[in-house]
Amino acid sequence: MSDLHARHRAVLPDWLALYYENPIEITHGEGRHVWDADGNKYLDFFGGILTTMTAHALPEVTKAVTEQAGRILHTSTLYLNRTMVELAERIARLSNIPDARVFFTTSGTEANDTALLLATTYRRSNQILAMRNSYHGRSFSAVGITGNRSWSPTSLSPLQTLYVHGGVRTRGPFAHLDDDEFISSCVEDLTDLLGHVRPPAALIAEPIQGVGGFTSPPDGLYAAFHDVLQDRGILWISDEVQTGWGRTGDHFWGWQAHGASGPPDILTFAKGIGNGMSIGGVVARADIMNCLDANSISTFGGTQITMAAGLANLTYLLEHDLQGNARRVGGLLIERLRAVAAQLPVVREVRGRGLMIGIELVRPGTDQAHPEAASAVIEAARAGGLLIGKGGGHDTSALRIAPPLTLTVAEAEEGAAILEHALRSVQ
Ligand code: PMP
Repeated sequence: MSDLHARHRAVLPDWLALYYENPIEITHGEGRHVWDADGNKYLDFFGGILTTMTAHALPEVTKAVTEQAGRILHTSTLYLNRTMVELAERIARLSNIPDARVFFTTSGTEANDTALLLATTYRRSNQILAMRNSYHGRSFSAVGITGNRSWSPTSLSPLQTLYVHGGVRTRGPFAHLDDDEFISSCVEDLTDLLGHVRPPAALIAEPIQGVGGFTSPPDGLYAAFHDVLQDRGILWISDEVQTGWGRTGDHFWGWQAHGASGPPDILTFAKGIGNGMSIGGVVARADIMNCLDANSISTFGGTQITMAAGLANLTYLLEHDLQGNARRVGGLLIERLRAVAAQLPVVREVRGRGLMIGIELVRPGTDQAHPEAASAVIEAARAGGLLIGKGGGHDTSALRIAPPLTLTVAEAEEGAAILEHALRSVQ
């Protein structure tokens, strides 16, 4: 065990998850690459769990942050902040939510917590619908709506949560159905549930489950859910913490793949927008956002320095059509990985969209999750110079690929070759 690892273990909580047998210490990065303390270079296919949206040390973001740091780090959200207003205006426009209001937080957890505060207040109900296998953060309320048991350490939630089928296509009672039957069975299940409970405040869902292993429900599921919810006045919260900003290629937000008749009532975001600076936030219709009748501020939500990073990063993303890049390069990568997977019984499926790609591993010849293989593959990939993530339900048996959105075709090819080698080594 390295000295730093031992010190980490001695002073930080046991439940603070760490990757790798011999955990990595990353010292710097550039573009799609990072370097560790021993000088090893890695191609980064995980981008700090999707926090590095565009590129490591993107010069435009570095310049905006350092210039801002040279002026002032932060005053207070009690004073006007031009960059906060500007970023909010741009996000409101991009959200497609009519008369949208934006509130900035410091994390995805705080964003979802705020969404829950709004929805429960607006609807005067503390009952929430959430998806099985979901992940929404680590606060007391967020773990209370997190269906993924590996990440939900308490059952003493302040909310009453009902878990709904649909987020995961590969396992569960509806797995054998085709897409249309899957959607209609999930809708039937939801409708039946709603017939037996107090009116819920909202349904919260990740369009593609992130921590859950980049699962892909059939397109149209959330549109069908939306119809059921709208009829009953139940709000739809789309957790776009991982799926936002064009990562999925075809769409700017994950919910758009579902062809819903209208946008969600509330949308939450975090991770990539600050390219490493901690920005989270909530977008909601004005009547929902303004339903609170007491003051509420976040001391660090919307600081000058994080807003400067967010503006520079979003500008770069849009000007360089990184959503288009995610579609093109991600499409090639998915194709290449599917060709490899077809030869390897340990791979059950390669799924996802754009640069959000999941690879589900199973015990060959069975449908059983294979968490040991997932751990072995991420170790082997690291040894080959590639960082990837893992995820899944109770058994962490999926590999997660989410590189910075500036990934080039050559880098996609290079990463796919390392990954192929890693997958073959665990056959
Ligand atoms: N929602 C989703 C979908 C997430 O993936 C995460 C983080 N993994 C969160 C919320 C929580 O975000 P944070 O860690 O910034 O609090």
